[in-house]
Amino acid sequence: MKENSIIILDFGSQYNQLIARRVREMGVYAEVVPYFEPLDKILARKPKGIILSGGPASVYLEGAPTISKELYQQGIPVLGICYGMQITTHLMGGEVARADKQEFGKAELIIDDVNSPLFQNVPNNSKVWMSHNDHVTKMAPGFVQIGHTDSCVAATYNKDINTYCIQFHAEVTHSEYGTQILRNFVFNVAGCEQNWSMGNYIEETIKNIRETVGDKKVLLGLSGGVDSSVAATLIHKAIGDQLTCIFVDTGLLRKDEAKKVMEVYGENFHMNIKCVDAEERFLSKLAGVSDPESKRKIIGKEFIEVFDEEAAKLTDVEFLAQGTIYPDVIESMSVKGPSMTIKSHHNVGGLPEDMKFKLLEPLRELFKDEVRKVGRELGIPDHMVDRHPFPGPGLGIRILGEVSKEKADILREADDIFIEELRKADLYNKVSQAFVVLLPVKSVGVMGDERTYEYTAVLRSANTIDFMTATWSHLPFDFLERVSNRILNEVKGINRLTYDISSKPPATIEWE
Ligand code: GLN
Repeated sequence: MKENSIIILDFGSQYNQLIARRVREMGVYAEVVPYFEPLDKILARKPKGIILSGGPASVYLEGAPTISKELYQQGIPVLGICYGMQITTHLMGGEVARADKQEFGKAELIIDDVNSPLFQNVPNNSKVWMSHNDHVTKMAPGFVQIGHTDSCVAATYNKDINTYCIQFHAEVTHSEYGTQILRNFVFNVAGCEQNWSMGNYIEETIKNIRETVGDKKVLLGLSGGVDSSVAATLIHKAIGDQLTCIFVDTGLLRKDEAKKVMEVYGENFHMNIKCVDAEERFLSKLAGVSDPESKRKIIGKEFIEVFDEEAAKLTDVEFLAQGTIYPDVIESMSVKGPSMTIKSHHNVGGLPEDMKFKLLEPLRELFKDEVRKVGRELGIPDHMVDRHPFPGPGLGIRILGEVSKEKADILREADDIFIEELRKADLYNKVSQAFVVLLPVKSVGVMGDERTYEYTAVLRSANTIDFMTATWSHLPFDFLERVSNRILNEVKGINRLTYDISSKPPATIEWE
């Protein structure tokens, strides 16, 4: 399977994740690696084609990311996109310079070589998406122009090294025939076969895990979240009882969380799960603390201590497994500047140096929705795979101010009703993250002619693509009314409910 793959060299473009997606959607395995991946390692994977991504740098400036010219001499077809085009031109003896005005947005691509394999089934004129400051001012020797716009050389080809370059971003949907152009590269030029699916990705990964782990033991911190759960299920499928999961019940989890996790992963999947009831430990450390940052720190530190203590009870553990996914990998990688540092991303966070585990991260090439697909394929129930993100400190940061068991219990009930109603109304998957927040504010109410003096809670529901910016969900009034009735009637301790209508920025999705 991997010998039928496309390798994408990452020059830091915001779109490079999309290239891999597009190729995988075509049924061909694609992997993104940093541009400085050594050539022999790239060749060892026997890719059928190499795509050079876009990137923020300018090729003519000192320290701009570059690659070895030998890459083009391996008989492997290359497609350079934007920065990929510019670096190719620059390395091969052409010229790239800053354009008079930057070009951002739609442009019209006019094809010069209608017979080019890259442009099969693409009309002679079509819309493409541009995003660049620099452009090719002189093609490198051996390259011919195969497409242009009214302001730039938009596509070039060198038959001696079977290298194509395009200035536009074929991977974004604004390029009308972008996917067709990528398909043409993948199938017509690189000659890939359609043989990749989630099913064989799983098989291959399971085989790799077995080879890597051998007869050693693996430890994983299971949180019940999508990433750690899918990683655990995959690893368990590969090595069974050699995997031990540690689930820490901090007392700050959602309603029945420990029970659900034990049911799904313990009873159904027969995983070896150590459930640590640490509620009292966490709550006593949090007593009297109301500052959000202090609460986060206490929870994080306590979590590591509990995890450590449990890990120390096990022998022969050689690997620490984590549900790291591709966006985490990208976030923790710096592709800028000459001093490139790759920090490893710790989902578990701040594990002590002397733990010296080897990391096992079977999902590190996948995007979130691909992880969900793997989860479904492995038979994890929908309600566990489609869950909204849940923060590490849990309810500790959704109970504003001081945390107590009483408050956590109240919040759990309210939150459970909100989520249950969202699911019933078929809205859960239409919002990105929904939850209830408990405020340290009491107000006066009346119930059965009696005065009450209880807490105020807030419904929060946000819609977002990347969690960097978000809008509040426009939930229907009759739905909000239903939730309000249920929470105010069923949850003892809350007599007032509000709906958060703040966007991010300036607010954040979570309250602390
Ligand atoms: N930084 C280069 C430019 O401005 C390439 C941009 C890109 O790859 N999107 O032209």
